[in-house]
Amino acid sequence: MTIDPLRTSEETLEKYRNYVNPSIANLLKFAGFAVPEKDASGIYIRDLAGNEYLDCVGGFGAFSLGHLHPRVVQAVQNQLQKEALKSHYFMSTELADLCELLSEVTPGDLQYSFICNSGTEAVEGALKAARAHTGRPVFVGAINGFHGKTFGSLSVSGREVYKKPFYPLLPETRHVPFGDSAAMAEAVDERTAAVILEVIQGEGGVILPPGGYLRDVRRICDERGALLILDEVRTAFGRTGEMFASEHYGVIPDIVTMAKALGGGVMPIGAFSAKPPIWHSLFDANPYLHSSTFGGNPLACAAAVAAIRATIDEDLCDRSAALGEKLLSGLQEMTARHPAHIKEARGKGLLAGIEFLLDDFAALVITACGRRKLLVAYSLNNPKVIRIEPPLIISKTELDRAISIIDESVSETAKMVEGLG
Ligand code: PLP
Repeated sequence: MTIDPLRTSEETLEKYRNYVNPSIANLLKFAGFAVPEKDASGIYIRDLAGNEYLDCVGGFGAFSLGHLHPRVVQAVQNQLQKEALKSHYFMSTELADLCELLSEVTPGDLQYSFICNSGTEAVEGALKAARAHTGRPVFVGAINGFHGKTFGSLSVSGREVYKKPFYPLLPETRHVPFGDSAAMAEAVDERTAAVILEVIQGEGGVILPPGGYLRDVRRICDERGALLILDEVRTAFGRTGEMFASEHYGVIPDIVTMAKALGGGVMPIGAFSAKPPIWHSLFDANPYLHSSTFGGNPLACAAAVAAIRATIDEDLCDRSAALGEKLLSGLQEMTARHPAHIKEARGKGLLAGIEFLLDDFAALVITACGRRKLLVAYSLNNPKVIRIEPPLIISKTELDRAISIIDESVSETAKMVEGLG
């Protein structure tokens, strides 16, 4: 059966209006993206109208291996021949293999892992583990931090606009400016269960921690008996040029959360890993104190094992570091040419951001890139920043093309804005 792209687009938009989310329907229509996605492979996404886009959103970190990486697809297909979901009555070799592998690749002495289905669930589990271990009530997060949108994760996230309609959230949470060691020292005390931070704030606009900051936070937590949770949902598995971003800063958390790239761009999965004493507090008295029906399912575990092995075998951490330098220098050269519109370009590995002086300028650049068939990301907690997070398998030539499209889009937007002024 042949599909009429125009008709299918209109029908799908109508279904979005009536059954999915009318406001997203309007936004997509306005931005010129009211066409269904058709398929994707490698670093390209194709829509039903026959357009092919270079994907530098990378699923906000989920497509580190690109779309449909053959090794991950094969692992999932093999598993599907055997069993899709488990009964939970018996042990799971796939789950055991993944948790063993995570203990090898996670930093320091993190040993045990709980497998769930998303980033926000990983954060929820980490917060519960910190409560169970310390018996303390308070969580400290960072202003503009992003940890997900379920109640616990939202409570420790740091942007009011996403929180206010849902109050009351977790009662005892405090937020301090990211990067300010003195503010952290003041906020953490003997009532603090854990500090939770992203290593590099993603939705906050690609904010890197100042030198020594994470070590200071580690020391403050140790001195006061609080745990340190590092949220690497976006940064784990090579995104920043190391397997885990915390490795750049020489800091080992008590608990690390991950998701996104863990599924190899094929399966949804999340996880949190912790040091053994935390696991004893969480599970010794009751092995089912924290559990999930779908978490740790064999399809997702098989995908994750294949994804981690592909990341190692294809040297994607080094690749991300090297290509990241190229990306950043390209963006910084561009910044120097547009001082009236760009404040700064920054990043680590293949996680880069451009901060514009105006919110609307960022949105216009995203749309202008889209017209040139390049996808770049909006930042939920810092609308002045666009993010560039390509799959780590992107080639140098494709990266050059992305940089020059961003450059053209910035120049076009600058001309338009100056023309209005
Ligand atoms: N933590 C961080 C650092 C994230 O960037 C995200 C999502 O962008 C989450 C948690 C939530 O992940 P999910 O959308 O899978 O729930």
